[in-house]
Amino acid sequence: MISDDRYEKMIYRRCGNSGLLLPAISLGLLKNFGKTNSYDNSKEVIISAFNHGINHFDLANNYGNPPGSAECTLGRILREELIGYRDELLISTKAGYTMWKGPYGDWGSRKHLLSSLNQSLKRLGLDYVDIFYSHRRDPNTPLEETMGALATAVHQGKALYVGISNYNALDTKKAVTILKNMGVPCLIHQPSYSLLNRRVEDGLIDLFKKEGMGAIAFGSLEQGLLTSKGLDEETLKGARALDSEVLKGEETLDEVLHKIQQLNEVAEHRGQTLAQMSIAWTLREGGVTSTLIGASSKEQIEENVKALDNLEFTEEELTIIERILNK
Ligand code: NDP
Repeated sequence: MISDDRYEKMIYRRCGNSGLLLPAISLGLLKNFGKTNSYDNSKEVIISAFNHGINHFDLANNYGNPPGSAECTLGRILREELIGYRDELLISTKAGYTMWKGPYGDWGSRKHLLSSLNQSLKRLGLDYVDIFYSHRRDPNTPLEETMGALATAVHQGKALYVGISNYNALDTKKAVTILKNMGVPCLIHQPSYSLLNRRVEDGLIDLFKKEGMGAIAFGSLEQGLLTSKGLDEETLKGARALDSEVLKGEETLDEVLHKIQQLNEVAEHRGQTLAQMSIAWTLREGGVTSTLIGASSKEQIEENVKALDNLEFTEEELTIIERILNK
């Protein structure tokens, strides 16, 4: 079931200045892996990903429906299929968004982060995760406390590395310094980044390089909008992509779809599908170590990993893309 050539096609990139290599494409379990999803399909997608060299699975305490059930699903798959491969796998989780009732069920206190990590380890059936993140900046908790909780997770041996997600540039810089002073490097930042969401280019991406941090981008497919699903209103019907933030902005659906259709033409010229080009574009400059994808089938995994066949963009292609996006 697990193929011997699983590492042959994947590209592994160094995560900042650390010793850790990440696959250029990682799989996120936010959707499609909960208790309400088919377990057999979840297992098929995870095994297919691993067989394509995607050895990094990204979770959070609250992923899945009901919250936490994505960790339970991965825990079961690990037990049934992958436990012998634990040392080949990177398993990440996060705490910060609402997970349980009461004052400690969310945000950035030491109480929330360390209790949540213990719960995640139980659901996953693991002694440690590879990366533990603060999922969002808590404006009411001193950053020293949140970073102190991450450092404690490392000192307890419950996380090998730590990271932050959704932090702005100023807080990222402070977090990096606080962690450094505690002797625990901030391995990685997890921001949103896609052709249609360039917020990370506003200072953050330069900071990653300057601080020697890695970055793992989420939302590169805009929940499916930047795939064949986003090409017209018909294919979008009932799709997750309709939840994309991009459709909540000032542009009309028609305007967004027009851009997506033009982007699709560029992708076709490059010999790629729109999904493949959208992933490749986020990986193009080296500021992003790995790009997260969500997937509901093994066919999507198979299509998306082929993005790695063409990561280079000519100046002309980049100019055309900018022209389309800035219209
Ligand atoms: P993506 O932008 O990766 O979209 C994934 C969806 O796109 C899939 O569920 C599928 O939709 C569709 N899709 C994927 N590949 C194809 C394809 N080849 N053809 C057609 N459709 C395709 O976003 P996600 O929101 O799923 O995020 C990915 C991961 O990023 C999450 O699982 C999580 O790990 C992380 N994340 C982190 C956040 C944070 O705050 N740190 C926030 C959000 C995500 P369908 O299911 O309809 O088939």
